[in-house]
Amino acid sequence: MNRVVLVTGASRGLGASIAKLFLENKDIVYVNYNHSKMEAENLCKNYELAIPLKCDVTREEEIKEMIAKIKEEQGHLDIIINNAGIAKDSLVEDKTKETFMSVLKTNLVGSFLVCKYGKKIMDKGCIINISSTNGIDTYYPYSLDYDASKAGLISLTHNLAVEYAPRIRVNAVAPGWINTSMNKELDGEFKKEECDKILLNRFAEPNEIAKVVFFLCSDDASYINGTVIRVDGGLK
Ligand code: NDP
Repeated sequence: MNRVVLVTGASRGLGASIAKLFLENKDIVYVNYNHSKMEAENLCKNYELAIPLKCDVTREEEIKEMIAKIKEEQGHLDIIINNAGIAKDSLVEDKTKETFMSVLKTNLVGSFLVCKYGKKIMDKGCIINISSTNGIDTYYPYSLDYDASKAGLISLTHNLAVEYAPRIRVNAVAPGWINTSMNKELDGEFKKEECDKILLNRFAEPNEIAKVVFFLCSDDASYINGTVIRVDGGLK
């Protein structure tokens, strides 16, 4: 039977790659976007079971409406992938409370609220939170707010795994560097230095992370719960 899947931030990058894998498996996928309507609609054009769905995950009312629409159309939800995320790197001394809060609000509070309202229409299934190696280790303090949000997502994962067991498995994936638009501004020299710290000597392609997410949502991962899977190519 087709599973009903919600992927947040699926208009491009990792989210789009995750959505495509589920769609290729003939699952029904809600392709959430905030600003990138055209990208989300273009992705959906190629798949019969793809449904674009606008929702700003920083707005609780929009999350409630998104979940209500899924309930109305499908009756239930099987899988949530909390992928929507932003980074606003800057020197620590230049960080404002507003910037810090906007990163937490999108990456952490948004994921919490999607779980909170999504769970109401889930009988069983699984939730994947896209964290980061930055949520586990510390690299550059200019992403202090991003790192805090991603560490928070790991705690959210552990806590919701307890709360939602045994019917819903909750796991996190912590990717290292990925070739997406989030990293499009990186200076070539900096990128080379970062690749030198990775045993595989390159950034991941989105599909290499998406496949792990897809596996964690499959029956083959039926005993994986409440954990964080690091996918970083051997980042030193
Ligand atoms: P991109 O910047 O390419 O894409 C981000 C996605 O998040 C877009 O689809 C965007 O949608 C969506 N988004 C942002 N804010 C909101 C919002 N308020 N509501 C709904 N959707 C929103 O990033 P990546 O694909 O690289 O990142 C995906 C996830 O992977 C993020 O959580 C990121 O932190 C994580 N990650 C990325 C790594 C990397 O190196 N790239 C490494 C480790 C983790 P729209 O354009 O429609 O607003």
